[in-house]
Amino acid sequence: MGVPQRRHGLPARLYTARDGRAPATADLRERLLALEHLVPVFEAVQAVSAGYEGAYLVGGAVRDVLMDEPNFDVDVAVEGDGIAFGEALAAALGGRAVPHEKFGTAVVIAGDGTRIDVATTRTEFYDAPGALPRVERATLRQDLFRRDFTINAMAVSLRGEDFGRLIDFFGGRGDLEAGVVRVLHALSFIDDPTRIFRAIRYENRHGFRMDGHTASLARACVEMDLVGELSSARLRDELQALLSEHDVEAAVARLDDLGVAEAIHPHLDAGSDARRLIAETDALRERFAPGVPAWRTRLAVLARRLAPGELFEWFERLRLRRRDAERIADAVTVGPRLVDLVAAADEPAEIRRLIQPHDPDGAVLALALAGEPAEGRLVRYFDELRDVRLEIGGGDLAGLGLDESPRVGEILDELLRRKLNGELDGRAAELDAARELVAT
Ligand code: ATP
Repeated sequence: MGVPQRRHGLPARLYTARDGRAPATADLRERLLALEHLVPVFEAVQAVSAGYEGAYLVGGAVRDVLMDEPNFDVDVAVEGDGIAFGEALAAALGGRAVPHEKFGTAVVIAGDGTRIDVATTRTEFYDAPGALPRVERATLRQDLFRRDFTINAMAVSLRGEDFGRLIDFFGGRGDLEAGVVRVLHALSFIDDPTRIFRAIRYENRHGFRMDGHTASLARACVEMDLVGELSSARLRDELQALLSEHDVEAAVARLDDLGVAEAIHPHLDAGSDARRLIAETDALRERFAPGVPAWRTRLAVLARRLAPGELFEWFERLRLRRRDAERIADAVTVGPRLVDLVAAADEPAEIRRLIQPHDPDGAVLALALAGEPAEGRLVRYFDELRDVRLEIGGGDLAGLGLDESPRVGEILDELLRRKLNGELDGRAAELDAARELVAT
């Protein structure tokens, strides 16, 4: 026996028994009880689960407990009536339950606002690849078997003496320790090709890796064009989730390597140029446009080689929100041209006039693409020119005897132009210039 090693923050010492039931260990009990905000939930589950065969924390929540990541969605599966359980749990927590009869599930909102998803253990049948599954009540093992990967197919008992017992039929803990993303059966990606995106997300987020078999199943699924055929909204959600992760370099490389990018759209570019450009736009977006969602500028980079017509057609197919689609299309089509236009502009007022309509997405992409002299001008736009405002307004012009009319706008525009170009400094100078313009 060697010294227990820690990989991915996990002590490598627990084992999985043949029946999937590892001993209740102090380790897991302690990990659960260290989650102070959830201790009242665990106590309430203890209190209401006596009449049930089993009550478990399941899925990604278990993975996160084992990885010491405390902010997970609390998913509880019960062997028995999930809705009745949810209602009893809500009462014990001074909260409320919202039942979904059709699925045998309930969302419990505890008195302190904690959300707990309760479900009856169930299995799923897929009638066609990529279709939504049909659902039926089942054993815990079947419930875990319907899940995407071994690392997400574990449960921890929350009931009575059993509290803290890990149930791991498929070797999830070992895979978590080794950093392996492994499907539970060979048809997993065919049943649900969105799992390929989920696998890439876990690889990217935790530095995990699909095992060889899983990666080749993913490739085969892509080659069968099942990713390309995914329903539009599901594809959009997966793509958005993937591109919203903290750092996506590894994920984009994987989209390229597994052929997923090409399957999504033949003109997407997830190659090394795209990855460099994403790193650049990420840094610029954080600095100059932190309000823009990361996935949007990243998608613009991936889609930058699509022709305008293709872009809109693709976004329509993905059912992107109109505003997002417009911003991305603007970045893709205008971003590169903006670089040339700004390179040819010499006055600050002109620089702002060119860039402002494309701020933020188009301007950020242009800056990522730009070399000098456009680069310096774009930085100057973000640092200084973008926020320049006149100190006087329409009211001041009225005070100078100019009634409301298009002329007011023209004069204010002219004053702003002069101010941007450094010809006006301060309110008094603006008023003097306004007086002159009103008189002419
Ligand atoms: P994340 O941190 O990315 O949200 P998660 O594992 O909590 O990860 P959820 O989407 O909240 O992910 O799903 C919860 C659990 O439901 C998963 O851990 C997995 O067991 C199961 N699950 C979710 N989506 C699928 C899917 N497409 N196929 C099979 N099982 C899934």
